[in-house]
Amino acid sequence: MSAARLFPNRARTKIVATVGPACSSPEMLEELVLAGVDVFRLNLAHGDLKSHSEVVRNIREISAKLERPVAALADLSGPKIRLGILQQDPMPCEEGKLFRFVRGKTSDQPTDLTTNYAPLIDELTVGNDVMLADGTVEMVVTEKTDDYVVCKVIGAGVIRSKQGINLPDAELSVETITPQDKEHIVWAAENDLDYVSLSFVRCADDIRQLKDLLLTNESRAFVIAKIEKREALENLEEIVSVSNGVMVARGDLGVEIDVADVASAQKMIVSTCSRIGRPVIVATQMLDSMTTKTRPTRAEATDVANAILDGADACMLSGETAVGDHPIAVVQMMNRIMLSTEKMLFSSRYRIEFNPEEALVDPVTQAVMYGASQTAKLLGAKLMVTATRTGGTALTKAKLRDETPTIGVSDSPAALRRMCLYWGVIPISGAPVHNGIQLRRFIDNWGIETGYLEVDDRIVFVTGGGIMQAAEYMVVVHKVEKPQE
Ligand code: PEP
Repeated sequence: MSAARLFPNRARTKIVATVGPACSSPEMLEELVLAGVDVFRLNLAHGDLKSHSEVVRNIREISAKLERPVAALADLSGPKIRLGILQQDPMPCEEGKLFRFVRGKTSDQPTDLTTNYAPLIDELTVGNDVMLADGTVEMVVTEKTDDYVVCKVIGAGVIRSKQGINLPDAELSVETITPQDKEHIVWAAENDLDYVSLSFVRCADDIRQLKDLLLTNESRAFVIAKIEKREALENLEEIVSVSNGVMVARGDLGVEIDVADVASAQKMIVSTCSRIGRPVIVATQMLDSMTTKTRPTRAEATDVANAILDGADACMLSGETAVGDHPIAVVQMMNRIMLSTEKMLFSSRYRIEFNPEEALVDPVTQAVMYGASQTAKLLGAKLMVTATRTGGTALTKAKLRDETPTIGVSDSPAALRRMCLYWGVIPISGAPVHNGIQLRRFIDNWGIETGYLEVDDRIVFVTGGGIMQAAEYMVVVHKVEKPQE
């Protein structure tokens, strides 16, 4: 398939879909790509590496068959603290009821709880909050001894074995990259994943360490910082600066900080990424009710729209595609909401401000792309084409949020796949990027064949560093020519 079909029907905001039992067959993966998925997320907290490898193989095969780059993202679980096996499962937690966290892997009493995090008892102090069952159950530490801590339920609910525990105000000694994450990093390198995201990032060093581990394993995967802890919000600027992208991981974030603060945190994270020039994914519960229903709630549809107006490059689906009843319909719905909302971005009221002087991107790339974007606008160009070795020029174009549709071409399949996360850039493979005349002819032919372009339409080509021998960077204003016989 060519990019032609994509322009009228496909949103510029990218869609990340989580793979799970509901959509992991090759047929479903292909349907999802055709419905608009750009990036597949493999949640390494679930499933086994053998099945994840098979999914990656299938994604690559589908991408080759459809002649369409598709990216794969490995999501590392980080130091997720979990409950052990409960004696009574499920266990109701009424307000005022007392529980104890005890050492070891087993307990004698139904109200004695164990965890997978051995130092828990040492690191909790009286007054700390302990959030369970995705924040639906809240306890507070009321007493501490060498062998246990006592917690009183202050927010009632039900807990189950192995559910996550969030400790919003405890200072945890645990390393962000766990031994299991290290095994998963080796797997991500061996399977040539395009993006690797890290959960529970607290500081920029967590990201530097992940980058080092990837390089040691000869992976050039780009690193996404999942922002879901208070400490990450405190160190946001530095974390965003050292990352290749960011995810607003609202699931855990909404437990680690007050749920009332999630919207303002999302806006702060997204605007930091817009300013610094990093792609940002807004994740979790975006169209949650479509896990079982065929239509989203008004609030969910509005949530997707607002994320786009905030400046999100991509929106993510989790359970909706992984275990939901309508994986294809939910992607189609997200695409429709995106298409409807994106038009607003081009009116001055909703413009996402990008200041080329502040972005942490190569200044020549910034200047050239900024000028080329203005040129395209003034000339009413039908298309921009960015030829890039690493994808950096394409990312800069994405962050400008201008109206001119854009194709990304590269001699690097990895760079093409990375572009799957870049707002408004449609990567196409097979373009002869090293020869200007051949590249223009390739795009002309493609445009005429697909009906997207007509003879005499304007195209602005931007060639980034390292592609052409003749010039470091190049901007060419071109008029579409009649295809040669
Ligand atoms: C989240 O917490 O929002 C998230 C995306 O991470 P996970 O699905 O790993 O909990």
